Amino acid sequence: MKYVISIVAIFAVLVITILIIALVVWSKREKQRTENGKLVERALGDKAESRLFRGCRLYVNKKFIDIGYILLSRNGIFVADIYRHSGFLTIKKENELNGKAVGDLIGVPEVVNFAVCTDIKTEDDEIKPSDVAEIIARGDNIFEITRLEKFKSIIEENAKEAEYLLQVQREINSRYFENVKGREGEKKVENYLRSFFDGERYFLMNDVILSGKFSKQIDHILINGYGIFVIETKNWGGQIYGSATAEEWTRYFYNGSSRTHYNPIKQNEKHCAAIKRIVGEVPPVYSVVIVLGADSVKVSADNVFSDFRQLNMFFRSLGNPCLTEKEAENYYDLIWKNIEKDNVSELEHVAATKRQKERVENGLCPICAGKLVVKEGRYGRFYGCSNYPSCTYRKNIKDNVSS
Ligand SMILES: [Zn+2]
Repeated sequence: MKYVISIVAIFAVLVITILIIALVVWSKREKQRTENGKLVERALGDKAESRLFRGCRLYVNKKFIDIGYILLSRNGIFVADIYRHSGFLTIKKENELNGKAVGDLIGVPEVVNFAVCTDIKTEDDEIKPSDVAEIIARGDNIFEITRLEKFKSIIEENAKEAEYLLQVQREINSRYFENVKGREGEKKVENYLRSFFDGERYFLMNDVILSGKFSKQIDHILINGYGIFVIETKNWGGQIYGSATAEEWTRYFYNGSSRTHYNPIKQNEKHCAAIKRIVGEVPPVYSVVIVLGADSVKVSADNVFSDFRQLNMFFRSLGNPCLTEKEAENYYDLIWKNIEKDNVSELEHVAATKRQKERVENGLCPICAGKLVVKEGRYGRFYGCSNYPSCTYRKNIKDNVSS
């Protein structure tokens, strides 16, 4: 028995010793890595007339990028990052792309990028902290200070924008489930429209973004012989109360809570106005609001539908066609030309809408951020942009800005 206990004791002492040695080695390495990191920082920061960004997040080419270091110096633009040999080799590749992105952003093709390994042991082809000073010294550009200042402000501005977009991205993510419900509703309406008009000639666009000074997201645009139908779909639970003229509609839920939303009729009227600006006054433009999934819809307004049976009746009540097939197609082409194709991501659209709202709430012009001032016009008082005439934005005293 005693014999067993001593073996266990020896074994325990052995394990503890090994652990202590491992800890010492590990902490020594950590210390060395930190030292090496500082060495890199010193080499990068130790330059007169230069500007070093540390841990910078930018938004370039529709992507967020995280950059370890950007050094703007007179003899070159350097994009660098540090990594550990084990498991972080992708940083080398990533840093190459980051270097290119920074080059695109500031309009300088010859950005030097390098990733430094901060481990004690490095492979021959890896850049060591002690190499950094030499790499920077080798830079053979001569940038004017004023140009460097310009680069600096471009990067600072972009970093601010990236922070803003990231915040919006988080909001979009947190609204994800509601968005899923919204998409489901839109899909149902799309399927309904396709089956209702099956066999007839029609043009249908779904979930499009109209270009223009306010980007507007439109759920559906249907064009056929009867005219142009601008359709806003909501997939909303609860009991819905609203009217054509109310600023907001309210949804009441069984648990006693409620939520308000900007009046979809007003929202869609703005979409219709934008479409009319494109197609002119000739073709009829119908505003259609569809509310699906609600327990009840108590809205006293024309052209608000809560089921497809009502929509059937609406479409059958339109009488005789007023556009030829060719005319419908021409209007379709005209609208299609005014639609953003892939170059505005959802994030950018949401961010633009949010920013416009924030500006107006702060009494600023949503387009140029100039101050909004009350002006006296032929039809009464309105808010106008103080940068008139270079900016012609105006807003009714009571109106809201919305997508
Ligand atoms: Zn303005």
